[in-house]
Amino acid sequence: LIQLYAPLNILGMAYREIKQALTDMERMFSLMREDAEIEDAPDAVPLATRSATVEFAGVDFGYDAKRQILHGVDFRIPAGQTVAVVGSSGAGKSTLSKLLYRFYDVGGGVIRINGADVRTLTQASLRAHIGIVPQDTVLFNDTIYYNIAYGRPDATREEVMEAARSASILHFIESLPDKWDTTVGERGLKLSGGEKQRVAIARTILKNPPILIFDEATSALDSQTEKAIQAELAQISASRTTLIIAHRLSTIIDADEILVMEHGRVVERGPHRELLAQEGVYAKMWALQLSEEEA
Ligand code: ATP
Repeated sequence: LIQLYAPLNILGMAYREIKQALTDMERMFSLMREDAEIEDAPDAVPLATRSATVEFAGVDFGYDAKRQILHGVDFRIPAGQTVAVVGSSGAGKSTLSKLLYRFYDVGGGVIRINGADVRTLTQASLRAHIGIVPQDTVLFNDTIYYNIAYGRPDATREEVMEAARSASILHFIESLPDKWDTTVGERGLKLSGGEKQRVAIARTILKNPPILIFDEATSALDSQTEKAIQAELAQISASRTTLIIAHRLSTIIDADEILVMEHGRVVERGPHRELLAQEGVYAKMWALQLSEEEA
């Protein structure tokens, strides 16, 4: 029996090793699959424009096959205009921006920029055309200068300072003891939500992309900071094709079109006044927000 045991044991060990190796391979393949999704097509062409019209046509999408998140989403942002998306948490708003940046490919339908399917464009050129001001900006453990210049590493010092000025963060930086050399991030000076968003706005001003995605912070900033950030946003989005993922309706009153999303579908659309007049979902959201502000 003992004689039998040893080989069985070895077999058992081998089995565990093989199983582990298979698990690793599965992981590797699933990583590769994710990468494959965003690989350039062999004949991909670079996008090169200063004036971009963005179009979602019948876009379906799910992060996995079992659960569809977006259902036939249609909208168009003519060059230089602003479309805002509102809707309850989990409606699929941020997913739109991830698809536009091509972190993932659509399951059905198509996303076009100036008529070209984003899957036919090189990834690098697509991303060079899009500036994202995210909900929560990632700061590197480095100087505040590095963190802003990151928007365009070959920018001159004057350009970096000018971007900081436009994002209303120059004064703050110059009031710090180490000024531009101040280390920020996890191991340095912690910036507030509003300051971090301003760093992101300054980066985006430096990058100077024709398409802008603004993912509004869920957590409320104090109302003065919020107003200031909204004003800065209005300025940088003025000449750009802009997609705003909004959590507060006050941000988007002036948007050319507002999309109201529920469970991955656009259920209402139009400019602010028209949506109010429809007395539907948007009008209810607006009334609720007003009463909350009053309270
Ligand atoms: P919020 O207002 O809370 O930010 P949202 O409308 O932006 O919500 P999304 O972030 O687009 O919603 O998420 C839509 C759905 O997709 C949610 O149900 C979410 O759980 C799911 N989801 C988002 N990201 C992923 C992911 N990386 N993997 C799997 N599911 C995801």
